[in-house]
Amino acid sequence: MLEEFCVQALADLEGRGLRRGLLTLGGPPGPWLEHGGRRVLVLGSNDYLGLSAHPEVREAAAWAAREWGSGAGASRLTAGNRPWHAELEEALAAHKGAADAVLFGSGYLANVGAIPALVGPGDLICSDELNHASIIDGCRLSRAEVRVFRHADPASLEHVLAAERGGFRHCLIVTDGLFSMDGDLAPLPQLAGLAGRFGAWLMVDDAHATGVLGETGAGTLEHFGLAGRASGEAADGRGAGLVQMGTLSKALAAEGGFVAGSRPLAEFLRNRARSFIFSTAPSPAVTAAALAALRLAQAGAGGDLRRRLQANAVRLREGLAALGYRCRLPGTTGVELAGSPIIPVVIGEETQAVRLAADLLCRGVYAPAIRPPSVPPGTARLRVTVTAAHTGDDVGFALAAFAAAREEVDL
Ligand SMILES: *Cc1c(COP(=O)(O)O)cnc(C)c1O
Repeated sequence: MLEEFCVQALADLEGRGLRRGLLTLGGPPGPWLEHGGRRVLVLGSNDYLGLSAHPEVREAAAWAAREWGSGAGASRLTAGNRPWHAELEEALAAHKGAADAVLFGSGYLANVGAIPALVGPGDLICSDELNHASIIDGCRLSRAEVRVFRHADPASLEHVLAAERGGFRHCLIVTDGLFSMDGDLAPLPQLAGLAGRFGAWLMVDDAHATGVLGETGAGTLEHFGLAGRASGEAADGRGAGLVQMGTLSKALAAEGGFVAGSRPLAEFLRNRARSFIFSTAPSPAVTAAALAALRLAQAGAGGDLRRRLQANAVRLREGLAALGYRCRLPGTTGVELAGSPIIPVVIGEETQAVRLAADLLCRGVYAPAIRPPSVPPGTARLRVTVTAAHTGDDVGFALAAFAAAREEVDL
């Protein structure tokens, strides 16, 4: 019965062009990996600064495993808390201009832990329609009332708040900073203004912008010049109510997630977020790698890596557009970012997106096709990402492959 159910469900997915399989990529870290005995150029990694290959980051992980062992052995609240956890939390808080930060086992766990800790029955969540699945799952787990506003549209959010805010105790506005599948930005100045006006808390999931955007790589708030709001403890109450979530798994080249904010917020989450309480503390290797990567991302080297990343992103996006590919969803209100490392090559129909991805792979370029439910129906795309580790020649190679594959799709 169980097997029959699974076989049937898989056949159904297959029939709708939605069945997914795992592709294994081998070889040493970097933009070129091995697939089926050949080298392929990877345009699908979130290791935006290329730090997972950096000798200091790898050495930090190896050293920590040798010195401290492979696993923390228990949760933070029992026997698993080590000095390096607080060290990383302090470094993350300083990076985000916040007073404190809490580590989680992953970004996914940060969202499904923090959101239900902060809001519950009788509270309201206003959620962008393109928010990451981990935010959506956090909202569902919270059992608060959820209202979805139009993507990156302050007018739509204002409409929801004006109509509904009064009927609820607390209100949490939650949004990606840099959107994971569209590569555009939330209009944070406007969202922060509305949060202030309607007495709501603002939570920004900066998984993709941490280490990537802003002068010091602090993320989307810094990009918009809102970094001063981040401390959460400003005397005039400004900045209170800001929840900054991020992950260690993308530009910070490790794994784990975090929430940065005021000291009371962090201490509250250590007491109430179930994915913090009931999950084993991050391992020594992962924690040390993240700390080493964070230091590199912030130092002068970080600025150089961000400039290289941005130059690659601008060149790839402009080249794709010149070939006739659409790199923005029609009618979207998201804030455009020319140097966004995430470039959606919007195809629309699922089987066409899969065909284009397969053709590119034959030509030595891996760019994953993203289909529903990861993106809304009718917006299947290749999610192209670029990193600071790509060379100018790599970008040229990618554009040549996209040019040759152009006739595979009607745009
Ligand atoms: C990747 C991602 C997460 C999850 O982070 P992990 O550390 O990979 O679990 C959360 N939110 C957004 C927007 C993401 O892109």
